[in-house]
Order: sequence, then C-alpha cells, then structure tokens
Amino acid sequence: MRIARFSIDGNVAFGAVEGSGPDELVLDIIKGIPFADFELSGTKVPLNKVRLLPPVLPNKVVAIGRNYAEHAAELGHAILDSEGRPEAPITFFKPSTSVVGSGDPITYPSFSQDLHHEAELAVVIGRMCREVPKERVKDVILGYTCANDVTARDVQQRENQWARAKGFDSSCPLGPWIETDLDPRDLTIQCTVNGEQRQLGRTSDMVRSIEDLIVHITEAMTLLPGDVILTGTPAGVGPLNVGDEVAVTIEGIGTLTNKVIKRG
Ligand code: MG
Repeated sequence: MRIARFSIDGNVAFGAVEGSGPDELVLDIIKGIPFADFELSGTKVPLNKVRLLPPVLPNKVVAIGRNYAEHAAELGHAILDSEGRPEAPITFFKPSTSVVGSGDPITYPSFSQDLHHEAELAVVIGRMCREVPKERVKDVILGYTCANDVTARDVQQRENQWARAKGFDSSCPLGPWIETDLDPRDLTIQCTVNGEQRQLGRTSDMVRSIEDLIVHITEAMTLLPGDVILTGTPAGVGPLNVGDEVAVTIEGIGTLTNKVIKRG
C-alpha cells in the first residue's frame, strides 16, 4: 500500500494512493492513523486536487553517512580502518524542522555557497522500539520513502558537527508517500537535476544493510512511530543552484521533487 499524507479543506489526513498514471491517482481517505489499526473510508479524492505533505512528521530523522563505498571515495573517505575492518557507521540527526514534502521548496541557506543533493532511501519506523534484534527488524518498519539529504557541503567541511550543514530548514525533503509493500534490498535509486541524471545507484551497494543499521541505532536509542532512517547516498552528489528542480526517484516507490528557491 502507498500511504500519503495531505491537507484537504484545512484538515490533515492520510490516504491510500490508488490508480495509475499521474493524473488518475486517487486517495482513499484513511480512518485512523497508519501507525495503528486503520481502515479505508471509501471516500476518495483525486490526488491532484490536494496538497501533499511530508508522509510523516518524524520525532527524529537518524541519518547514516558513507554507506555506499563509491560515494565515500568521491569525498575522499575510507570506509575501512587501517586494519581493513569496516568503520562504525557515521550517525547524525536531522531535526524535525528540516522535513518538507514533495513539491515544497528547498530554501538555499544564507550561510552556504555550495549546496548539494544526496538521494537516499528512507525507512519509516512503524512502532516504538529499542534494542531490536536483526530478525525482528522487519516488524518495526512501516515502509519506505524517498529522501534528499540536502547538504551545505562547504559548511559540512568547515564545521566538526553537521547540525547546521545538514539540519537547516527544508534540508530533508521526504516523499511523495510511504510504500509499505517493498523489498528494499536491490532497488534503483536516482537523482536528476533539471531532468539531467546526477546520481544512479542500487540499494544493493549499501555497505551496511537496513537490518544492521536499525540494530546499530536502536542499541543506543528508542525509535518512535514515524521516525525516519536515512540510509546513505550513492556516488554522484553535486551542486544545487537557485531555480533548480531536483528529483529523487526510487524503484517501486515514486519520485520526490523539489525546487531550490532563494531565501526571501
Ligand atoms: Mg547523506
């Protein structure tokens, strides 16, 4: 099932996306919330008549750095230590206030001159969990969506902590919806800017699997329903300029599209 979150007549609702073809999609409005038992109301609205919102409002976004070897290499980082063992994953937060939905603008931050796109598969957590064993990971996942870990690369390089470089408002586009029936292990992940391909990878090239990442994260912290894990970006990251339209497409999910605007 594809679950979208949207606003209609001033109210926020979840709906199951049905139909095919961009102009024929409808939303069957959900009674309840996707993180508990819910049912479809049978009341349907055309998707192109509503405003899509971020598919979840996470309490926290936990992001993983350097999870594709080719991307780590393009930024000049090793993923193995001096003895050939994998380094522990780099883990950082993006705040809830960084999240925007598909169609929302990315506002170019005033303190950066080098904004970059990073197309990523996002995991949406379905239930409260901690210390999740590997074999239970599938039970805590609601579904998957597309993400763009928008990064002020120059700020990331000059500040030890990445809170500003990767946590500014609108630096975490998510969407367009959550796909709940998906095997995430070998999907095409692509980023285009103004229709031109910039990144193309496969989730099978992740250094650490989604299972390993969730075990690693929940060793340290409780995840709540709606929390989001960003699983790293493949090679090909590059600049975004004001006026650019950036699109992240993941096989089996859909396309997350955002335009970069000047800070007003
Ligand atoms: Mg990233």
